Amino acid sequence: MKSASILDEVFDRFVNSTKIFRDREVLRHDYLPERLPHREAQIRELGEAVAPALKGARSSNILIYGKTGTGKTAVAKHVLSHLETKAKEFNAPVRFCYVNCRMVASEYRIFASLCQSTGVTVPFTGLSVGEVFDRFRTGLDASKIIFIVVLDEIDALIKSRGDGLLYELTRINEALARSKLAIIGISNDLRMKEFLDPRVLSSLSEEEIVFGPYDAGELKNILSERAASAFCETALSDGALGLCAALAAAEHGDARRALDLLRVAGEVAERKSAATVVDEHVREAEKHIEHDRVVEALKNLTLHSKLVVLSVYHLKQAEVHSAITGDIYDVYSELCAELGVTALTQRRLCTLVNELDAMGLLNAKVVSMGRYGRTKKIRLELPRSIIKDVFVEDGRLGPLVDHVPRCLGKQKKSGG
Ligand code: ADP
Ligand code: MG
Repeated sequence: MKSASILDEVFDRFVNSTKIFRDREVLRHDYLPERLPHREAQIRELGEAVAPALKGARSSNILIYGKTGTGKTAVAKHVLSHLETKAKEFNAPVRFCYVNCRMVASEYRIFASLCQSTGVTVPFTGLSVGEVFDRFRTGLDASKIIFIVVLDEIDALIKSRGDGLLYELTRINEALARSKLAIIGISNDLRMKEFLDPRVLSSLSEEEIVFGPYDAGELKNILSERAASAFCETALSDGALGLCAALAAAEHGDARRALDLLRVAGEVAERKSAATVVDEHVREAEKHIEHDRVVEALKNLTLHSKLVVLSVYHLKQAEVHSAITGDIYDVYSELCAELGVTALTQRRLCTLVNELDAMGLLNAKVVSMGRYGRTKKIRLELPRSIIKDVFVEDGRLGPLVDHVPRCLGKQKKSGG
């Protein structure tokens, strides 16, 4: 085919293909829909909890928890933006500040964001955390407001920094004469409470709101509302929408996952110049998303966990399809030596194997060896090509990917 006619075909196909998306932005995670079906109870509860602020009283501290994608962030933002509008209407001195603790990962930056919302400027770095906190407290008291602080993904903060910041914030009212502060803490991790000092926990959870998972029917309603503005009319089949809802419900009732499936399925259909998104596109979207999840997980492993995965990779390459811990330890130790890092103990390696099993990257099965006791058979859960693609890009591990460990050299079968 002449190059001109190739382009003719490409461009014609593009122009003539029916559009799938009307507005793809609507499917983004941070898009805030005007309506939040199936969260009426939580919206009411949170609304009742913050309403006293409109009359100048401090509202209770509130702890919100539920798994990811259950609408916690959306509900909190929805309620507070309406509170802000009402406060303007009634001339009530209410202000709020939303901080995502996972994004704003240091205590310094969190206090700096709080300062900014109360009109106090602090340098980007240079002060101690204590000084930033003092400036915040002074600035807050001077502004004579009811200040509501939303600390989203608070579990990330507690896991990395402990509960020092929360302790300071829960006690701040004792030192305020003209302003009041209330905290709304949001956590994706139900076990977070175990990591909190009991005093912090009891003041933080004056009220608690739980967000349960959505079921398939609820997810379908949520998706339909979003799809109506995201997709062109007739571009989305009912079956595909139902499948997105069912798959996300089977996971843990995660609306974010459902929206991701819907968006990626739309993109798959678009690339195939299909007129309608159908089940098959959703199935393909599921594979894309899973692939991306695995790639991200592999990239973010610590060095030693990466070395464990790479050891299992080499064993599989040498056709040892289900290795025992000792086999892995031999290869792992050799890789450590190549890199000039000290190998962890075999016991520690077992812990890493269990973690990788929980993440779905490896499969570790305990098998009985009769009178020789029990051992673990460990298999790779992923195609080798993914591991190769990710680790080849890794500065330190790259050279080890194609390097056959000496201890496996002799085991390798011909033609394998
Ligand atoms: P969480 O904070 O609990 O992880 P989010 O509030 O971020 O969950 O919700 C994930 C995605 O799902 C967001 O895009 C949000 O708009 C959407 N969503 C969640 N619940 C609802 C709902 N009840 N109605 C409409 N969209 C929702
Ligand atoms: Mg959230």
